[in-house]
Amino acid sequence: MSKELFQPLSGNAMPRAGGPATFMRLPACDLDAGLDVAFVGVPFDIGTSNRPGARLGPRQIRDESRMLRPYNMATRAAPFDSLRVADTGDVPINTFNLLKSIDIIERHYAQLIATGAKPLTMGGDHTIVLPILRALARRHGPLGLVHVDAHADINDEMFGERIAHGTPFRRAVEEGLLDCRRVVQIGLRGTGYAADDFDWSRRQGFRVVQAEECWYRSLAPLMREVAAQVGGGPVYISFDIDGLDPAFAPGTGTVEVGGLTVPQGLEIVRGCRGLDVVGGDLVEVSPPYDTTGNTALLGANLLYEMLCVLPGVQYR
Ligand code: MN
Ligand code: MN
Repeated sequence: MSKELFQPLSGNAMPRAGGPATFMRLPACDLDAGLDVAFVGVPFDIGTSNRPGARLGPRQIRDESRMLRPYNMATRAAPFDSLRVADTGDVPINTFNLLKSIDIIERHYAQLIATGAKPLTMGGDHTIVLPILRALARRHGPLGLVHVDAHADINDEMFGERIAHGTPFRRAVEEGLLDCRRVVQIGLRGTGYAADDFDWSRRQGFRVVQAEECWYRSLAPLMREVAAQVGGGPVYISFDIDGLDPAFAPGTGTVEVGGLTVPQGLEIVRGCRGLDVVGGDLVEVSPPYDTTGNTALLGANLLYEMLCVLPGVQYR
């Protein structure tokens, strides 16, 4: 039985300033639409510690995604030739209750994943990766992880709270959601409280690639090593936009100087081709600090690149 393959609305059929405000102007579908890939928004920023605004990220990423065309000129990926892809809208979180919201997100993703769809998520702050990993690990078992970020996000507590945007990967390890030998964190940097801010990750078996190791060089060789390490099982991509330098991505909550370049960000995602990628997210875009829209535009492009490395994508 053939399935209908959805296409982004062409800029030759409707000017890019118009059309539906879905990701890439794809159809809006329900969770049970028989999708291979679902773009999902999580308008959540009540786990944020510094500047707020990431709740507005999904809407702005969708808006800036209107420039994306279906074919990847660099990698020759044609994701809409073989995958059924749509935008399933936003998760109806409870913006007055963080813990209830985490449960709502987990249930929403469990329902989506049960259909066989792979989620590509527009955040939202990084807290949301914990319930997503819970839902995915229940289906796939412990996950490999490619995590791009200025921060390790492995705090035990923030202000005495165990769930916040700086703690999700500590909780994920404690809950057995990650296969720790298949976890890589890239782009970490900045000031900390103690060396343990990054060394805790290393003690779990993660590979930590601090930003300084990335300066002035292509990350294609690094990604060959990363792919070898995280392969052999399901892999999740979690991309915090603050992994990139604030010169390129200023519209985010917790900025750190000396970050990755845009080409390096593209190399990281493109370097995940061939892995069993079961989902990904792009988090921490904060439109109130994104006066040009460039941060959301970058986020939209990185999500498109994640789509282009999913298993089953054809290249032509
Ligand atoms: Mn983060
Ligand atoms: Mn961060």
